[in-house]
This record gives sequence, structure tokens and C-alpha cells, in this order.
Amino acid sequence: MSTQEEFLQAAEAIVFDLDYRKRITDNIANYEAAFVKGLEQYSNLELARERAAFIKWKVTENLDKYLIEFEASVMRRGGKVIWAHDVETAQNEIEQIMNRVQAKTIVKSKSMVCEEIELNKFLRKKGLSVYETDLGEYIVDMAGEAPFHIVTPAMHKNTKDIAKLLNEKISSSLDADAAELSNDVRNELRDKFLNADVGITGANFLIADSGMVSITENEGNARLAFTFAKTHIVIAGIEKVIPTVNDLDLFFPMLASYGTGQKITAYNSIVGPRNNDDDDYTGNFFVILIDNGRSNLLAQAEQRQALGCIKCGACLNVCPVFKNIGGHTYDTVYNGPIGSVTSIHTNGIKEFKHLSFASPLCGKCTDICPVKIDIHNHLVRNRRDIINAGDTTGGEKLVWFTWKKMMQNRKTMNKGVSIKNFMLKQFFKTSWGERREFPKVAEKSFNQLWRERFGQ
Ligand code: SF4
Repeated sequence: MSTQEEFLQAAEAIVFDLDYRKRITDNIANYEAAFVKGLEQYSNLELARERAAFIKWKVTENLDKYLIEFEASVMRRGGKVIWAHDVETAQNEIEQIMNRVQAKTIVKSKSMVCEEIELNKFLRKKGLSVYETDLGEYIVDMAGEAPFHIVTPAMHKNTKDIAKLLNEKISSSLDADAAELSNDVRNELRDKFLNADVGITGANFLIADSGMVSITENEGNARLAFTFAKTHIVIAGIEKVIPTVNDLDLFFPMLASYGTGQKITAYNSIVGPRNNDDDDYTGNFFVILIDNGRSNLLAQAEQRQALGCIKCGACLNVCPVFKNIGGHTYDTVYNGPIGSVTSIHTNGIKEFKHLSFASPLCGKCTDICPVKIDIHNHLVRNRRDIINAGDTTGGEKLVWFTWKKMMQNRKTMNKGVSIKNFMLKQFFKTSWGERREFPKVAEKSFNQLWRERFGQ
């Protein structure tokens, strides 16, 4: 089965699962209420978005310069930067570090790029113990699932589901409420933090001029992960760089209000290599910069703006497609509208082209994006590129060839309405789907009406 067929099958199954949809709708409704409140902090939201979009544009257009500046800054502080152009390189480099520091236990905070390189699976296969420490990630990891949403990985589960899962895994009570479940997980993890050899985190921003890494989180788990372990590995996509620490006065509140509807996220850490004269100095600070297809997107002058995404997840929450089919249906690490834009560039047209067509192009994603990414128009550009790459079926080509011929000929345009309706149905019966009423062609064409009225 092709990825497109799998997508359609999964979507078909989920849109009729009312219980599942209710959970998603309830969670998104909570987000929406908080989001409105979060935005109240802005006296001029549009100006803030313009500024954020400009900084991200400047960085994307000069990514080579900023990345080299970041690398030099990290090295100056005594850390190491490793460039990984693909998943295999990243995994090998991480394995080498683990061997060098003789790691056995790893604590990890939430990071989508780690999902991208399948880090947990890789490290566990090597016999290492890896613990997710973000509550949502912990839950989906325990369930053996991928994150459902880039900000709220366990959005698709309610308290009952989680209690049942944690009852099986860590003997939580089946009647536990959210606070009790969080407490159970906290107790489970405390020990792991204290005994971890390596802390792995992602990065929300890489600060070019200082070589520091900015990490934003609500639980304090990332802070514990990189504080206790002697070795800190940061794994980040190359697009995460920003020019200076001053840019965070814009991005901290922006990420908070668009991501979760908060004014500011609970913990914002700016971390780098420990100073040589610190008691606990080990010199073990690594930043692994992941390309993994991002350069392909960077090469697309029209769509490269998508690299400016700050992964706030707001476009997912407003997308009617995401709301109906949920995150897992996409079967991509980054799902929703922005994932549909980037996946064909980073992971290949063949496998993920259908995602660019899975959108009504309503533009809600573009309207909400804090860094003003022209998301729905990038989907249209993707569609154009997919067609230009010849990645369409023979049947589709024949349909459009015949359609064009008919449209260019007045006689066929004025043919009887029943034949037109018949032809339309033949052409589009598969793509239109079974559940939508097929549109009917008007009894008379515009040309016929004109002639009747004006006689020419
Ligand atoms: S594309 Fe924009 S709205 Fe969507 S996750 Fe990225 S920054 Fe947020």
C-alpha cells in the first residue's frame, strides 16, 4: 500500500471515531480559550509578528553565516559542534559520544528532532536506558506511539486513558486524577535524573553570537536533565539559529502565547558549556546540528520561508484537516499544515506529495502563524512543483488533457448537460470521494444564456 493509500485509510477510520474526535476537539477548545488570553499581552501584535518574521527571514537567507558564527561561539566557550547531514550520521555521532563517556543511562527532554532521527529506538537497540522526562512524551513513549502534536504530544489521550496506561506501566491508580498521575511520573523520574550519565535536550533557539542554547519548557525536566548529567547533548535542526540573545525578548512570549496560550513559559533556560573553573566542569557539551533534508528546502527560494517555523503548533490547532484526522494520520514527524509544506522537501515528493493536497486552502494556518509563513500558498506551490516534476498518474494526465480539449472547444462546451454531468463523474469519481454530493453542471452554459438574451 502506498503512503497516500495508508493516509486515506487512516483518515477514513479516524473521522468516524466520535470518541477520538471529542478528545481532540476538547483539547483544542482549551487551547483556543488560553490562546486568546495569551495574546492580550500584546499592545501591537501585528508589529511583533512583522519583527519575528523579519528576523526569521534574515536568518534563513543567511543561514550559512549564522551557523558558522554559532559554531565558533560554542567552540570559544569550550563546547563542540557536530554537523550531521542525515539520520545515520547523527546516530553514529551520538553513539560515539555515548561510548566515549561510557554512558548507560540517558534522560531526555522533549525534542521533535530526536523523533526525526529515531533516537530512542536507536539508543535502546544499543542496550542503553533512555527515559523521556516530559510528561506528554513520557506517556506516548510508554504507549509505544509517536507524538500526536508538536507541542502537546499526548493531546489525543484523556485522563482515563493515561491512568489505564500508567496503571499497567508504573502501577498508578486507575482512579488517579491528572495531578496524581503527574506525581507518579515525577516520582518515577526523580531517580533517573540523579543517576543519568547524559542529558539530551532539543533547542528552541541557537544563539549565534554567544553560542548559547535556549530551551523553553513548562515542567523543568529539561533543566534537570542538563543540570545533573555530566554530559549534555543538544540536538537541533539547523534552522533553529537566531542572531542574538536580544531576539528572545520577542520569541519567548511569542512561543508561549502561540504554543500554549501562556504569557511566558514556566522555564526558559539559556545554557551553554560549563565554565572551566566550575566545580562540575566536564567539558562535555555537544551540539549536534541536523540537516536531514533541510538544505533541500533551503534551496527552494519560494518555499524556504517555511524553515522559519518556531514550532509553536498554532497552525495545527486551527487546521480543519488536522482537527478531523489528528496527528498520527499524517505519519510524519512534523504534521499539520507546516508538516505538509516541508515533508516533500525534507523527505521526498514521492512519499509525501499527497499531504500538499490534503488541505482546503482556507488560509487559517497562514492567518495565525506568528512568523507569517505563507503556509497555504506554499501548499499551492508544492502542488505546482509536484505536477512539474511529472509526479502524477497517467490517468490524471489523460483526464486533464481531455478536460482542456473540451474546454477549448465551444461546440463541446455547449453540449447537452447530461453528457457533461456524465463526463464529470467519470473524470472525478475517485478523487471526489463517496460522501460528498457531486456538483451538477447548470442546464445552460454562460454562452447559451448570453445568446438567448442578446441574440448573438
Ligand atoms: S508554521 Fe507558524 S503557526 Fe505553524 S507551527 Fe510553525 S510557527 Fe507555528
